[in-house]
Amino acid sequence: MRELNDRKGRELVDGVIELVDRLKPLHLSIVGGDPLVRYRELETMVPLLLDRGIHVQIVTSAFRPMAADWAKLPRLNVVVSIDGLPPEHDVRRKPATYDRILKNIAGQKITIHCTITAQMTKRPGYLQEFLEFWTPRPEIERVWFSIFTPQKGDDLPEILTKQERSGVIRDLLELGEKFPKLEMPKELIRQFAAPPHRPEDCVFALTTQTLSADLKTKITPCQFGGNPDCGSCGCVASMALAAVASHKLGGVIPVGAIFKASLKIGQWRARRSAEPPPIQPLQVLP
Ligand code: SF4
Repeated sequence: MRELNDRKGRELVDGVIELVDRLKPLHLSIVGGDPLVRYRELETMVPLLLDRGIHVQIVTSAFRPMAADWAKLPRLNVVVSIDGLPPEHDVRRKPATYDRILKNIAGQKITIHCTITAQMTKRPGYLQEFLEFWTPRPEIERVWFSIFTPQKGDDLPEILTKQERSGVIRDLLELGEKFPKLEMPKELIRQFAAPPHRPEDCVFALTTQTLSADLKTKITPCQFGGNPDCGSCGCVASMALAAVASHKLGGVIPVGAIFKASLKIGQWRARRSAEPPPIQPLQVLP
């Protein structure tokens, strides 16, 4: 919901509800820009979405306070994006500085999400320091880390080398033992070592639909759009679904194989009935 010229007010609320009623997702992730730019619409829309039994996730910089009752709503997850420790974060995210975030999240239930960049890996103990800052706070329910995901052909200082990526995996496995609020199971963390190589192999890309704020334009192949370098993917959601897909039912058949077979059957049946296959969950993105 970043493009302010896109829908707003009642039109935005009705548009999202109509979409959800049509596509029936299990989970809706609303990201930005910053969705809190449209906080009035969000405060109207969130209870309507939760009443439909779906899980709702709002990803924000917490640049402004959120509705006080959000902390009590079941199936609502508010994720605050933090770009590292204050010296890095406050420069990049101003006006959503650490000070302001701490004020705005008081009394809420928050998931902290941080994307690890190569710069962070150059300072030993960075991730531990980050967890030491956030996890003792009562409003923090959990912490998630992603690893920076480039587009193909990018040459950016944020991109981790293979060695840096292995170091991060090692650190996260160790830190998970010390910080229970680092809610990333070992199977998930290990997936960072072997990301899917193509969108066609990515369970996350195959099971999500990402829409722009006009509620029509599809963003493909996944939430990153463009031509992402899947071999360097560090998206925590993608790794979580890959971990589920690699789990072997009865120790024999990977869940991913069953999922792909089921998807093919669904697409075949949809073609026969000339109806689009159900795609879940739905994301509304800028
Ligand atoms: S989520 Fe990652 S692996 Fe999946 S399509 Fe996007 S970049 Fe590729």
